[in-house]
Amino acid sequence: MIAGTRNINYLRISVTDRCNFRCRYCIPAAPFKFIEHDNIARYEEILRIVRIGCDMGITKVRVTGGEPFVRKGIFFFIRQLCRISQLKDISITTNGSRLNRNKIKELMDMGIQRLNFSLDTLVPEKFIWITGRDRFHKVWDTIMAAHDLGMSPIKINTVALKGFNDDEIQAIAGLTLKYPFHVRFIEHMQMGDTDVDASQQILTRDIKNLIIGAHGPLTAVPKGANDGPAKPYVLAGGPGILGFITPVSSHFCSECNRLRLTSRGTLRPCLLQNNETDILTPLRNGADDEALKQIMVTALKDKPLCHNLEKRTARDMPLNHMTSIGG
Ligand code: SAM
Ligand code: SF4
Repeated sequence: MIAGTRNINYLRISVTDRCNFRCRYCIPAAPFKFIEHDNIARYEEILRIVRIGCDMGITKVRVTGGEPFVRKGIFFFIRQLCRISQLKDISITTNGSRLNRNKIKELMDMGIQRLNFSLDTLVPEKFIWITGRDRFHKVWDTIMAAHDLGMSPIKINTVALKGFNDDEIQAIAGLTLKYPFHVRFIEHMQMGDTDVDASQQILTRDIKNLIIGAHGPLTAVPKGANDGPAKPYVLAGGPGILGFITPVSSHFCSECNRLRLTSRGTLRPCLLQNNETDILTPLRNGADDEALKQIMVTALKDKPLCHNLEKRTARDMPLNHMTSIGG
């Protein structure tokens, strides 16, 4: 699939907007209205959209949410995805709290080699504060189980926030000195009305300075096939890789090869623009594959060349929360 000069081969599938965590930057503390059950795309509907996408050039998918592992039947769904021969790369983003050694083994047996875990702190009390749940040890044990089982690469996503984990950037980056993890610091984006705002953003330049101050130079290394927008670096002597996802300080729109399918069955060509195209309703109304292909092509016409996040005011920011789009 083509959008301008970009070849779109990557579909991010949000299977649910629900989550067992309440990360402060993702879901508001105030009562939050999740999508009604009937309006969530069913697995067979998602699989049909993925198959059509594959006919049009999709070769890579990421399953995300909300928290994908809170949705019933998720292992069945992932197994079906793994059977789609055109898909060369299937990965999952998770908070890790619903997985354990056996479930990771089951995922690996299906062919999943890549998991991204979210982890914003190494301090259990701070983990409770940011996620609203006392699950630090559970998540850490899951990450270690994935490591022991040989899952590779294991990516750790950390949203950097002033006044919360700026004093831990060095320690979190230091994980790459001990483990072959890919630790990626993500600049906070203001999405919806959460109780974290732009004043808590830490830009990559400052994150890098904190790391260099503690661990010495960061050496840039060539991008791997699965690095996405994160620019990879290493610290001397470490087996792991550090990455920086910079939607605010340096947008990567010209390289963006993604299309998102939200859990309510809309196609969203850009995380940071509110325009979405409903594909679920036509599908439920009996549209044939050709008509659904055309909907995908039309949706991609809306893929912007540049989101200009750094120039936006709070009023222009995405109205949807990350959990309802799929991070
Ligand atoms: N529940 C899973 C998890 O946390 O990994 C998958 C969904 S979550 C929405 C995907 C990613 O989006 C996480 O790494 C999370 O830290 C990130 N994220 C959520 N809200 C964000 C925000 N406002 N700015 C930057 N990253 C955000
Ligand atoms: Fe849930 Fe992930 Fe959002 Fe945290 S970031 S609330 S784990 S969906």
